[in-house]
Amino acid sequence: MTGPFASRSHCACVVVQNYDYDEAAAKLKIKADWLKDHISTLPHMKFGHNAAVFCDCDLRLIQAINTVLPPRAAEHLTPPQQTQAESQTTAPTTPAYTALRPSKGRKRQTAGV
Ligand SMILES: [Zn+2]
Repeated sequence: MTGPFASRSHCACVVVQNYDYDEAAAKLKIKADWLKDHISTLPHMKFGHNAAVFCDCDLRLIQAINTVLPPRAAEHLTPPQQTQAESQTTAPTTPAYTALRPSKGRKRQTAGV
């Protein structure tokens, strides 16, 4: 992807809802200090001298890159082999995490009540 959204290709947000360190840490159930200590290796947004902020997509990606999957579990999740023709039709540069979406457990407000 090119253009202004290239660096946010993992972001599927349709509204802006950002979290500061404490809010992001609370959502991930981790310490804010860990986020601060590892911020250079984590997806986040930075607006000048303001502290880093995160959207849900950043948090999902942080989850994905910090997921520990034992070999037995990884074997269990190995997808069926793709043929070469199939793999050529899909964009090879698209990271798997772009397929991640929030679970269906999230409550959504209905409009016009
Ligand atoms: Zn997002």
